Amino acid sequence: MTAAAVLSRVVPASSAGGNAVSLPPLVEPAPELTVDEVRRYSRHLIIPDVAVTGQKRLKNAKVLCVGAGGLGSPALMYLAAAGVGTLGVIDFDTVDESNLQRQVIHGQSDIGRPKAESAAASVREINPYVNVIIHNTSLDNDNVMEIFSQYDLIVDGTDNFATRYMVNDAAVLLGKPYVWGSIYRFDGQASVFWAEHGPCYRCLYPEPPPPGMVPSCAEGGVLGVLCASIGSIQVTEAIKLLTGIGEPLVGGLMVYDALDMTYRKIKVRKDPNCALCGENPTITGLIDYDDFCGAVSDEAAEAAVGSTITVTELNEWLKADKPIELVDVREPAEYEIVKIPGSRLIPKGDILNGSALADLPQDRQLVLYCKSGIRSAEALAAVKAAGFKDAVHVQGGVSAWVRQIDPSLPAY
Ligand SMILES: [Zn+2]
Repeated sequence: MTAAAVLSRVVPASSAGGNAVSLPPLVEPAPELTVDEVRRYSRHLIIPDVAVTGQKRLKNAKVLCVGAGGLGSPALMYLAAAGVGTLGVIDFDTVDESNLQRQVIHGQSDIGRPKAESAAASVREINPYVNVIIHNTSLDNDNVMEIFSQYDLIVDGTDNFATRYMVNDAAVLLGKPYVWGSIYRFDGQASVFWAEHGPCYRCLYPEPPPPGMVPSCAEGGVLGVLCASIGSIQVTEAIKLLTGIGEPLVGGLMVYDALDMTYRKIKVRKDPNCALCGENPTITGLIDYDDFCGAVSDEAAEAAVGSTITVTELNEWLKADKPIELVDVREPAEYEIVKIPGSRLIPKGDILNGSALADLPQDRQLVLYCKSGIRSAEALAAVKAAGFKDAVHVQGGVSAWVRQIDPSLPAY
């Protein structure tokens, strides 16, 4: 995301009012440092603001780094070197040659290795006193709350909007602070989101950009060293939060432009109408983030080519009594609110895990729909792979049906 995309919650520093405040340390000090640790951390210990107590707090801290990629690399390396006692690393990916231009925690010999394992090995090499916890999995709605609850602080190094909103929502729901960073080409941003003391990510960006509007680093590129600039801000903020020194970047957005070599700190207000952390929240639990962000996998996009119908076509098929099996792949609560007449409910998860495949009819064409056409595309890829070659899905889903065919139905 570029600096130009910064939205309306940003206010000029001059009119923002109030000053950032220091916050109490996030963790209690560990009982003691060993002689080896005193030797290792001596350059920290002689800083009066850190001193032995600050180093003991770092030793007692549990920090999770989401992603061992561009931002996760410098973050994990410096958090390890700084003496953070427990470092979690979560990543489901493996090291690719194209990662090495910026993901400096991995090396040539790590190509093909799980990133979480490769990163953990580097952390142990940097500092053997760190307890590394490897989460070699993808963060999802089923595990995010359980994993986050094991840590004091989260460092978000994710590169996609679906995970970014999930990280934010889980952190807010658990009352935990997290340090966010984002990079693209020559531009970077960083902030600390902690709903109890300031805005959350949704206060700044209430809605994700439309799918395809903001290219990822894989599509648009990133200057490798930009990761170090933003990752070092993230680690600095993490250490400040853990030890309670300085003024954390809560309510502040750091915007870095490598070409101009400028850092601008912009104040960000908490949005009283924020759907998550505002006065009357409408989001009280985790949501379907792929659906929310319109993220479609490559498989789903491929499956949808030539196998997508409009709601107008579906309406004609239904009127003509075409022998189809109309399947709603949303969740039961959504199906209760509104459905296309003649449909049956099979939640997407039951299709993806294969349990519902045996119940699908072989003698009729499958027509899948969801709310907006994202989840149905994922389900479409699964049923086509299972042999239902003529299956199609409905563009725009039930939302398009309500808009274009039957506005008397409730929209949600
Ligand atoms: Zn918020």
